[in-house]
Amino acid sequence: MAKVWFVGAGPGDPELITVKGRNLIEKADAILFAGSLVSEAAMGWAKPGCRVMDSKGMDLEQIVSWLIEQAQGDAVVVRLQTGDPGLYGALIEMVQPLDEQSIEVGVVPGVSSAMASAAAGVESLTLPEVTQTVILTRVEGRTPMPAGESLPELAQHHCTLCLFLSITLLKKVQADLLAAGWSDQAPVLVVHKASWPGEERIIRGTLADIRDKCRAEKINSQAMIIVSPTLGSRDWPEIKKSKLYDKNFSHRFRKAANKS
Ligand code: SAH
Repeated sequence: MAKVWFVGAGPGDPELITVKGRNLIEKADAILFAGSLVSEAAMGWAKPGCRVMDSKGMDLEQIVSWLIEQAQGDAVVVRLQTGDPGLYGALIEMVQPLDEQSIEVGVVPGVSSAMASAAAGVESLTLPEVTQTVILTRVEGRTPMPAGESLPELAQHHCTLCLFLSITLLKKVQADLLAAGWSDQAPVLVVHKASWPGEERIIRGTLADIRDKCRAEKINSQAMIIVSPTLGSRDWPEIKKSKLYDKNFSHRFRKAANKS
């Protein structure tokens, strides 16, 4: 049975693709990729004779017909997606037409750029008694935001916000967060090309100055914006420790020290 696999390529560094994703690339008879570092590496992993196509310049219909065409017989087809396929990846738009053709589909998750950006800055997106919640979202652009999901509404939670697809809209990010009661001194982390060897850039600032800093660095694409009350906690003199490694707290695999 043919199978089309949507494989998360990860954020950029070819070492951040999953073992399963790489194994599928090695097995694939056809690969459709969106130009990136992982794609270049993938070409080296692909078996000789594998049909390879860049989706740059293809519209949805062309992508879907290419995938269907390649999925004939018992071919293994891989559609490489940046980060995780389930985040801003048009996954369902591609899966539905395959379902209509009764072509079996599989998804391999990937390391999202949100996680890679936090890692780049040695930041934790959650911290005990600071925030235990992460919102992955974007600022409204051409895609309208559903009711209740505007940034001023989401920002009212004062939890961690990872903003995709929004680096050209920093002015709006600033205004919306201030409107939601954030301080203009709230820390902001912007990571451009997170995990790309030699190309990653990390910009730290505040709501007040992050836009100017990004402008000065000419960062206007491929960037993640993280706004969070946890940012910079590596340098805090005191943090609340999590229960996970607390010696007075037992869980399935470890008995608390003070228990008889
Ligand atoms: N599925 C992807 C997101 C695709 S939407 C994922 O899980 O990461 C494209 C947006 O993702 C970009 O506008 C940018 O905000 C972010 N992005 C993708 N790769 C990135 C990287 N290496 N570094 C920082 N941001 C990145």
